[in-house]
Amino acid sequence: MRIVLLGAPGSGKGTQAKLLAEKFTIPQISTGDLLRAAVAAGSPFGLQAKAAMDSGQLVSDSIVLGMIEERLAKPDTQKGFILDGFPRNIPQAEALDALLEKVRMPLDSGLLIDVDFEILLQRLTGRRTCESCGQMYNIYTSPSRLDERCDKCGGNLRHRTDDNEETIGNRLRVYEAQTAPVAAYYRGQGKLRSVQGIGEISDIFIAIQKALGEPAHAKPVAAPAKPAPRKPAPIATQVKQEVAAAVATVKAVKKATIASIDKTEKKVAKTTKKAVASAKKTVKTASKTVKTAVKTTVKKGVKAAKKTLASAKKSMKKASKAVATKSPAKKAIVKKAAPKKKVASKKVAPKKAPAKKTSVKGRAIARKTVPKKKVSAKKSSKKR
Ligand code: AMP
Repeated sequence: MRIVLLGAPGSGKGTQAKLLAEKFTIPQISTGDLLRAAVAAGSPFGLQAKAAMDSGQLVSDSIVLGMIEERLAKPDTQKGFILDGFPRNIPQAEALDALLEKVRMPLDSGLLIDVDFEILLQRLTGRRTCESCGQMYNIYTSPSRLDERCDKCGGNLRHRTDDNEETIGNRLRVYEAQTAPVAAYYRGQGKLRSVQGIGEISDIFIAIQKALGEPAHAKPVAAPAKPAPRKPAPIATQVKQEVAAAVATVKAVKKATIASIDKTEKKVAKTTKKAVASAKKTVKTASKTVKTAVKTTVKKGVKAAKKTLASAKKSMKKASKAVATKSPAKKAIVKKAAPKKKVASKKVAPKKAPAKKTSVKGRAIARKTVPKKKVSAKKSSKKR
């Protein structure tokens, strides 16, 4: 059985490849694993591959093809193989065909495991792999019971360095652009089989066997809920392991907390900066508006005042002209009026006295009264 497993990062290719390899007792060949081993060993291949892997890009075809050729030449591939993560683009698919044709071992199937984008993201960010036995976990969907340790062998669980959000984004984009067309390539050869990669691992495995035309069995999966019994270690070792596990958990929690605090702080700083900038802008705009308004109002006020002043001046001019024209007549009237009043008061006094028939006493009083009237008349004429 010679199979190529296709699917986006996080689609579960690795998990299903292991199960198929076990079922058919053939090797699982993962170019990702081979490259990671080369990086860990510090080989020249590994050093060249690391930068591309860390950024989520594809490693150069020449490196990958060299590794695959070397691996397929090993005797354990005679019965068959499961290729996991290879080919990743059309040139690799064509090179593989050429290679297999040379040794007369053509491919049987290209098997695509199809999964939605959102689920892929959750799977990739939560993915943990045992450093010792390769058992895979997911902190969201299938966590290990011992937190940072493998339920199967007690090994350390590792979070792949390229399973961070930025690199994941790149890997998914690269998959869409370069790897997805490989499915069409095998469809064109009539070799493509496809299954939905959502649900229980054992159910997906059954679907895969059926798609390959094989009798399907729900092979017991090394589920996290049922950890395989381990050989009891000496008490001291057990305690040591428990302590190490506890320390690892505390460290992981601390790391996660610090990362979360850092993230929140950055967010708050960014928001504050934005708010201050926007407030400054508002103040600037407001002061500009006020300045313009004041300027306009003052201008209007000055104009109105000038107008009022001009009209006041005009009125004053008119009034003074009018006064200048009317004043001689007034003076004349005043002059004429004054002597008339004097004469009237003088004439009134002698007429009134003889008209009254009074007693001697009364006449004496009258005489006394007359001179008084004359004085008052004279006084009033003087006033005028
Ligand atoms: P994987 O474990 O299959 O997800 O691969 C991890 C990384 O190894 C990828 O993101 C690539 O950088 C690199 N890689 C794995 N397989 C290939 C391949 N066939 N061609 C190019 N790069 C690969």
